[in-house]
Amino acid sequence: MKKLLMITTMAAAIGCTVDLTTEDIKVADYKDGKECAVSLTFDDSMKEHYTIVAPELEKRGFRGTFWMCGGWMPAEPQYDTTHFTWAEAKEMSDKGHEMSNHSWSHPNMTTLSEDELKEQIRKNDEAILANLGKPSTTFCFPYNAYNDAVLAEVMKGRIGARLKEFWLGGQHSPKEYLQKQIEDALAAGSWIAGMTHGINYGYDCYEDASEFTDFLDYLKSLEDRIWVGTFRDVAAYTAVAKGISLDISKDGKEITVVPATNLDRTLYETPLTLEVNTDGKKIKAQQDGKALEASYRNGKAYITFCPFGGAVTLK
Ligand SMILES: [Zn+2]
Repeated sequence: MKKLLMITTMAAAIGCTVDLTTEDIKVADYKDGKECAVSLTFDDSMKEHYTIVAPELEKRGFRGTFWMCGGWMPAEPQYDTTHFTWAEAKEMSDKGHEMSNHSWSHPNMTTLSEDELKEQIRKNDEAILANLGKPSTTFCFPYNAYNDAVLAEVMKGRIGARLKEFWLGGQHSPKEYLQKQIEDALAAGSWIAGMTHGINYGYDCYEDASEFTDFLDYLKSLEDRIWVGTFRDVAAYTAVAKGISLDISKDGKEITVVPATNLDRTLYETPLTLEVNTDGKKIKAQQDGKALEASYRNGKAYITFCPFGGAVTLK
């Protein structure tokens, strides 16, 4: 018995006891096999996004999406203490937050001529790229107002736009409402985006900033189940996951998974998660000769791979 146990242990250690079938493998709906995704998004380049929001997110390991209007950002900060500056936006961007386009000067875009519409988008895109060194690849409409023509224009060279949001701010979002948004997203396996403006000032600010940080703590307590990701990252992940094809074959105990996607890598670069039903056993995964990271939960292995890379082998 002792000998048998030892053989079993050794076999597990070298990873040859798992006999996977091709049906055991799929791309997870969300990163690391999380059940739903939440993007925390903040509109209008408000100073508190720099002084309060970004640091509170970072404390919890979260990153946010900040929709900026270049025309509102102060050239001389001493005359405008209510908006963050380009230098502050650069700092946030360098820390991994997404800094993206909310039009140049916040008009209702459905009321603009075609030239004005293009100008509102272009001017802000150029300012973001020039000041932050990274392009804006998502969009948020001022007043959440859009129509088919506006949407088609902003989606040129972009991977997503915020079309639906839950209100994460002030008296519009009591604790029960916010928890319901999260419970519903978990139940439906959906991706939701919060919309926040000011924390202590602005038209929909909180009575007490602790309401905002309490919600972040609540999200943090669910981080094993919820992916809190930037709008860009979730948009890229879900688009690639949806369009990818996996050519899965088996030779002995080794499975080979060849991913293929038609999406443009420069725009959609993202890791994906392969969900492998291993009955709780450990497996070895490689892509292009390199070992891949794996985590284990609920009898499954979650393996991070590059959807634009070569064959993934599992054994
Ligand atoms: Zn706005």
